[in-house]
Amino acid sequence: MKKKKIKAIIFDVNGVLAMDKDKKSSVHESVHESMAKVLDVHLDTWFDAIDTTYAKSIEGKGTKEGVIKRIADNLDVRTEKLQKLLVKHYRRGFRRNWHLYKIAWKLKRRGYKIAILSDQWHVSKDVFIREKDERKFDVSVISCDVGMRKPNPKIYRLTLKKLKVKPSEAVFIDNRDWNTKPAKKLGIKTILFENNNQCLKELRKMGVRI
Ligand SMILES: [Mg+2]
Repeated sequence: MKKKKIKAIIFDVNGVLAMDKDKKSSVHESVHESMAKVLDVHLDTWFDAIDTTYAKSIEGKGTKEGVIKRIADNLDVRTEKLQKLLVKHYRRGFRRNWHLYKIAWKLKRRGYKIAILSDQWHVSKDVFIREKDERKFDVSVISCDVGMRKPNPKIYRLTLKKLKVKPSEAVFIDNRDWNTKPAKKLGIKTILFENNNQCLKELRKMGVRI
């Protein structure tokens, strides 16, 4: 049987294009602890304050301003202060994986379509995905923009549709197996991301010219 040619490569952001500085917890996890500490509230109080607003925001409910205001009101802090602190602590917790970004752009020059598929809430999106970087991808599917998140199969189907490729013509790179599983089920080739070298090796094994 002839191997289907890969036409598109889809990249996750956190843990792939954006690497956590802390090896033990992801920046999305550790930011909660940092925020509780800097606001001098119990971690439980912080979680009560963000409550469902945070989770719903990942699925696109509300606006960035509305989401921040609701949480700020719950904590009795100023909206601008909360916004600044959140951005600061998100920024502190990660570094951009420039090597992989460069590989993505090289793939695009070689004729492959490249995409971003990421779960973000309204507040973290701008921190992790800079507009000028996002524009260099053919397709960008961010949960808070499209109103659904991984591992909902619909978000993978939407990404394929936007890329105009069949599942077997795409590779999806993510650092969580619960996110790669539904993709695999749809027939998309998957790479469980560990590091750049491992990822490159697996891409080459799939016949991707790099
Ligand atoms: Mg991830």
